[in-house]
Amino acid sequence: MSSKPNLDTGGSFTHPLYQTLEKLPGVSIGLASLDDLLAWGLTNSLWVFPMATSCCGIELMAAAASRIDLDRMGTIVRATPRQADVMVVAGTITVKMAPRVLKLWEQMPEPKWCIAMGSCAISGDFYRNLYSVIPGIDTVIPVDVYVPGCPPNPEALMHGLLRLQEKVQAIRRGEKVVRDPNPELIAITKPSVPRVCERDRDGDLSRDQADQALRVTADQMCSPIDVPYAPTALQKPVFAPDFAGLLAELGISDAPAEGPPCVPVARHYELTRRLKDLGYRQLVSIVASHWPAGLGRKGKDEAEREHFEVTYLLRTVGKGTRVATWTVRLGVDETIPTIVPLFAGADWQEREQYDLVGVRFEGHPDLRRLMMAENWVGHPLRRDYPIDTPCAPWR
Ligand code: SF4
Repeated sequence: MSSKPNLDTGGSFTHPLYQTLEKLPGVSIGLASLDDLLAWGLTNSLWVFPMATSCCGIELMAAAASRIDLDRMGTIVRATPRQADVMVVAGTITVKMAPRVLKLWEQMPEPKWCIAMGSCAISGDFYRNLYSVIPGIDTVIPVDVYVPGCPPNPEALMHGLLRLQEKVQAIRRGEKVVRDPNPELIAITKPSVPRVCERDRDGDLSRDQADQALRVTADQMCSPIDVPYAPTALQKPVFAPDFAGLLAELGISDAPAEGPPCVPVARHYELTRRLKDLGYRQLVSIVASHWPAGLGRKGKDEAEREHFEVTYLLRTVGKGTRVATWTVRLGVDETIPTIVPLFAGADWQEREQYDLVGVRFEGHPDLRRLMMAENWVGHPLRRDYPIDTPCAPWR
């Protein structure tokens, strides 16, 4: 698998059979007209594979809708790489997404082209120096046309497609399409990873990217898991007269003036179970935060040491809904019991907090990464995490 473009031909591709026929005496005359016909067909039927990941994707969708109507230039949007000619990358591409984009690009048949739509796809834009975003899709696959803007409107995309048509026609005529870069702009926008079109790009980099792209699906495979969730029969809910009363009954007295009450980690599971029995049957959120030593809520011993705060929110369902929220503080080496046996939805939320903050939920059936790439090192929402952490071979 190689994402290296043919730099000497301007990225063009000629089928080997065509090259053989061209050598036969007299055949070239017939092929000339045939080639015109094929070039006409090719340029007027550029089918698009939509690689839309964020807001620019909406503009891409609008381009295919009735007002712009890309169909009128033969451009049909197909959500499959196999019949696509042009990949339109519209949106921010993250380190986790990049190998998938490369894999889909490799699944597109030759000849193929790429349009980078919007400043995120072109350079990473606002997120360029963020740990999870690659600095432009041209560091992974070769880009033929850049459509600038944040977001570019559908007309701009159409203009980009017209420029691509011109490029394809020139290539079919045998002309070498030479880039016309602005050296100053190239220097200012130089990404942390060399662009695919740069001649001094290290071949090992392309191989590493291709290798990760090939393995990406296998890495994601996992066996079905048994979630130890035991649903209880729905009973007529008996609402707690008051959440504070239940806390008092459980001997939980740490109720700061600001923020939710603090529950000792040892009482947390029991409190959750009691609340569920009392009718708090919807788990709204689990949110963890990381506090380095000396930070955190004032007046607490825990604030003197590095610690996590994990905040839970439950609510009753139906008319007159009520909420119950509390915080559990724990040291960075401590674990907190999972509440998956009580709320199946806690599975996803606990995994997210583990992935991004590093809180370990004891007894969780499948505590794997969720948002970040599988081989990610560290937890990016910890306050001491460097925001521009590099992640080879993507950024
Ligand atoms: S370029 Fe702007 S509109 Fe497009 S994905 Fe990035 S932030 Fe969204």
